[in-house]
Amino acid sequence: MQVFINEAAFWGLLVSAIEVYKKESYGLLLGHRDGDMFMVVNAIACQKAERHATWVKARDKSYSRIVNFFENLPNLYIVGDFHSHPRHNTALSEDDLYGMSPGHVYIVMEIKDKGKEKYWSYNEDGTLSGTTDNWFIKIAAHYIDPDTGKHRMADVLCPFAIGFNIKARTPSR
Ligand SMILES: [Zn+2]
Repeated sequence: MQVFINEAAFWGLLVSAIEVYKKESYGLLLGHRDGDMFMVVNAIACQKAERHATWVKARDKSYSRIVNFFENLPNLYIVGDFHSHPRHNTALSEDDLYGMSPGHVYIVMEIKDKGKEKYWSYNEDGTLSGTTDNWFIKIAAHYIDPDTGKHRMADVLCPFAIGFNIKARTPSR
């Protein structure tokens, strides 16, 4: 399984994780599925999300309106959700696993204070990582194998991000 993240979705993921750091961000992934590939074209942060919320739970709660809104748009679907793991790796918690169902993709981002700079690149395990001005961020994608019911990692593809170097902020004052 592959998860293609376009430029808009990449920014959506980063901004949401950075905005609420050191809290967890949460949001919905919009796009469509094409065979063995999820195409993610937008990542929409849900500000009122509870920690460890999932979009399945979300249906019944505060952002059912958002879910309904997107589900009624043609050609754009909620393909899964995302959340961040501040100062923690991208491994799934029990709550994360509990909220997963086959046919969706779940992006988990590790975010922590930046050590040394790292150009955005793919890692051996299918994740994508790099640094921004202040943070190190790693993006992992998980899904449930419909045959085994077990969770697996998908390969994250984001050509936009590769080699990306977010320049250090120059002092403006
Ligand atoms: Zn988690």
